[in-house]
Formats: sequence, C-alpha cells, structure tokens
Amino acid sequence: MRVGCHLSTARGFEKAVEAALELGGNFFQYFPKNPRSYQPKAVDRAAGARGAEAARAAGVWTVAHSPYVTNLATYDPKLHETTVASVVNDLELTEALGTPWLVVHFGKHVGGGEADGKRRMVETLDEILDRYRGSTLLCLENTAGQGSEMGRTPAEWMEIVEAVRQPGRLGLCLDTCHAFAAGVVDWRDERSVAAFEEELRATGALPLIKVIHFNDSMVDFGGRRDRHQRLLKGFLGEEGLRRAATLPAFREIPLCLETPVDEEREYGPEIALLRRWKEEAEAEEAGA
Ligand SMILES: [Zn+2]
Ligand SMILES: [Zn+2]
Repeated sequence: MRVGCHLSTARGFEKAVEAALELGGNFFQYFPKNPRSYQPKAVDRAAGARGAEAARAAGVWTVAHSPYVTNLATYDPKLHETTVASVVNDLELTEALGTPWLVVHFGKHVGGGEADGKRRMVETLDEILDRYRGSTLLCLENTAGQGSEMGRTPAEWMEIVEAVRQPGRLGLCLDTCHAFAAGVVDWRDERSVAAFEEELRATGALPLIKVIHFNDSMVDFGGRRDRHQRLLKGFLGEEGLRRAATLPAFREIPLCLETPVDEEREYGPEIALLRRWKEEAEAEEAGA
C-alpha cells in the first residue's frame, strides 16, 4: 500500500523524503514551485537527479501539485500564456525529480458558461501537451464545484480527457473531500459508493486515477465548498473515511493526505490510521 501526505520541500527535497519515512509514509506530494505564483523556476537537473535518487533509494513515491492560482480555462489571453508556460515548467521540474504525476485542478469558467469553459480548457491542455514532450503525466483533479469550478463528475472529467488531442498523456486525481462536497459520492452510504464506482468503470475514469487526495470535509454532502478537514473531524466520519480508504477498486492507488494540520508531524497519526484500515481490510479479504 502507498500512503503519505503533502510535505514542504523548503528544506530540500531529500529532507521531505526523510520526513515522509519518519511519518510512517512511503509517498508524498509537494509543490514544484511557489504555490501562489506562476513565476517559472529554473530546472536544476543535477539537484533533481539527487532528489530522485534519494526517493528511489528510500522506496518513496512522489506526486507534484501545480500552483493553486492555475486556471486552465482562463479567458484572459495573457494569463492563458502565463498558465501554459507555468504548467509546462511544473511538468519539467516534476520530471527532473523523477516524479511521474503532476496534479492540476479542473478549470473555472468564471461566468463564461460551462461549454465555453470546457473548450478553453481543452485548448490550454492541447497547448501544454504540445509544448511538453516528457514523461510526466498531467493529472486533472476533481473539484467541489465551488463557484464556477468545472470537473465535478466522472462524465465531466472524461469529456475533457476525450476531447484533447493526446488523451493518453492525461491522468486523474480523485479528492475524497471534493467528490463529497460536490454531491457526487456520499462515502457514508454504501449504495452511493457502489453507484460511484460503477460510474468510474462505465466512463473509463477508474484506470486513469493515479492518486487519491484523502481528506475529510468541513462541509456536508453537496455543500459545494472546498474545505478539507482532519480525519474523523469532518462530515465523512469514520464509516465514510474507512469505506473510501478500503474500496477494493482503489487498493493500488496511492493515498495522499492534504488535511489542515498545523504541523507536518500531525500527519503521523493520520497515516497510521490509513495503514491500519487498509491492513484490516486486506486481512479480511484474504481470510474471506
Ligand atoms: Zn486535493
Ligand atoms: Zn481541496
């Protein structure tokens, strides 16, 4: 099993690898550059190779996350240019660190309507994939449907993936809190989860999910707001969280916590909880 959390690389990528192990994880997410800016960062291949080797030697897998300001469906032509350059830069930085996946949120249509927003998002993705020729997979993350956010449902994710010229170079990232807040799956309800799983299979989305962002939610089912909560402190509760963590269809997909901890060491108990749930579920399946 792969479990971990979002970690700072401010003290260096190798330190984050060590921190992941100390917290009991074997996976972590990081920002390849400042998460509040589009400002490109120079790609340091030697430092990247050292970081990649440290993760490989430790048996730790990694995923990167694009800056939060990124809107793949922006109207502004100048911002569109900046966005393409920023994501291409993120993909290059990520690849240099040996990370196979870069996560970016679905776009916001900002009042222009969904159809136009989707068209602009597809154009932006086509440009990014034309300019970046490397191996890192760009993974689109589902949203809570807050404001004009697109990408709530598996059908919407696949509509975008299937419309780009190089669909094989895209993956998906599923956030448990966003899907719940979006009103797409109620993890507390076995039937809702079964229907969601069926939708993931029917649309072809399931095999594209490379990473699961594992978070509880501060808002109730369908609340349409993106507010992560610490495990067992939000609306998913133990039953919902446990069901999401142990769904057999998700067994091989790495879980990454993005819960609002004050200090990284507080991820330790949450990682331990995920490990315990998954171990118990696997033992139960083996015994059944
Ligand atoms: Zn997330
Ligand atoms: Zn979120």
